[in-house]
Amino acid sequence: MIASRMALLQHVCSVPLPRFVRRRPLSSIAATAVAAPSPRVSVTTPSNSRSPNIDPHALLGMTEQDLQQLAVEFGQQSYRGKQLHHLLYKRKVKDIEDFSQLPQAFRNGLREAGWKVGRSPIYRTVTAADGTVKLLIKLEDNRLIETVGIPVEDENGSMRLTACVSSQVGCPLRCSFCATGKGGFSRNLKRHEIVEQVLAIEEIFKHRVTNVVFMGMGEPMLNLKSVLEAHRCLNKDVQIGQRMITISTVGVPNTIKKLASHKLQSTLAVSLHAPNQKLRETIVPSAKSYPLDALMKDCRDYFQETSRRVSFEYALLAGVNDKVEHATELAELLHEWGRGYHVNLIPFNPIEGSEFRRPYKKAMLAFAGALESRKITVSIRQTRGLDASAACGQLRNEFQKDPLITESDSSESQPDLAVAC
Ligand code: SF4
Repeated sequence: MIASRMALLQHVCSVPLPRFVRRRPLSSIAATAVAAPSPRVSVTTPSNSRSPNIDPHALLGMTEQDLQQLAVEFGQQSYRGKQLHHLLYKRKVKDIEDFSQLPQAFRNGLREAGWKVGRSPIYRTVTAADGTVKLLIKLEDNRLIETVGIPVEDENGSMRLTACVSSQVGCPLRCSFCATGKGGFSRNLKRHEIVEQVLAIEEIFKHRVTNVVFMGMGEPMLNLKSVLEAHRCLNKDVQIGQRMITISTVGVPNTIKKLASHKLQSTLAVSLHAPNQKLRETIVPSAKSYPLDALMKDCRDYFQETSRRVSFEYALLAGVNDKVEHATELAELLHEWGRGYHVNLIPFNPIEGSEFRRPYKKAMLAFAGALESRKITVSIRQTRGLDASAACGQLRNEFQKDPLITESDSSESQPDLAVAC
């Protein structure tokens, strides 16, 4: 497909292309990334063949070195690549036409060869009373993804701004309480589509993002290659410290080991949601192919390999997994597999059509107390932006009922709108 695109470009392009066509593939970018695993879970993942993970024409996500090489291949001096890097990641320019520091011929060449920055329009913004902002970003193929910006002022008055980013359009894992899972799965995000979410949050808040959590739509471990590439870019190019980045997973066989081999200094957050296999399978269907013992062993190995402790996420569902007995069992499980684990309790955010309810505060405090009395550190996550469709996937579902790509989809088609905007 790329070859035919190149053939077409040679007819219309006013700059010589041969070196560009021959240029080293962006392998250096992917050199440290691992291949996206095929999920060994009992879900159907549609073929992603029409959505390759690396878009060779998106500048966003490229390293300074690759941008320098690109400049040279367009007949420019390599320092033009440094300027490109500055424009993308410091000035955060969204359109090649606005790269006014670069020669017009270089800009024309890039555009005519099909290059773009890789920033998508913001389709919808919803702001909650507490300042949380949820964005719907409209991708090139008209799919909508959610990104959330969460501002928190610390005791010194400075703002911590967390971007909660999506890694997939939808999610194939269908956890029973999750709005994203209910909405189905379309495709993996490309690396620039992950990075651009952080830049969109910065644009909306006019403030630097200080923290990134991969806790939006999708299971990051099913798109590990792009997630690692985006992580590299966010750390090295956007300059967000590795320790300020959290990668979350519900557990996909063989992927925690792969992540550990990269020895990132980021936090791994594992969504447990239950203290035993039987209950977990009812909440997280994909757990059937990844027994709890195997998951806990991988978490212990992750700590040994990276020296970074895993934190555990636990969504509290009233009457399902929120009893003191569950907390006691959870504490035993964690003590069996290590020391010093931290548990984040997440009160369930009610979603339309869900059979689950949010627990009463008293139940949450009793659960937390039972963990603390067994020397497990615990925090109850403050629910942010309830009035902004805060549950992951909830807002997207309001606007796009069917995220599945069909043969008739084209980049010209309009999203299936449930609500006029
Ligand atoms: S909770 Fe996470 S892994 Fe589960 S369906 Fe939702 S997005 Fe997917």
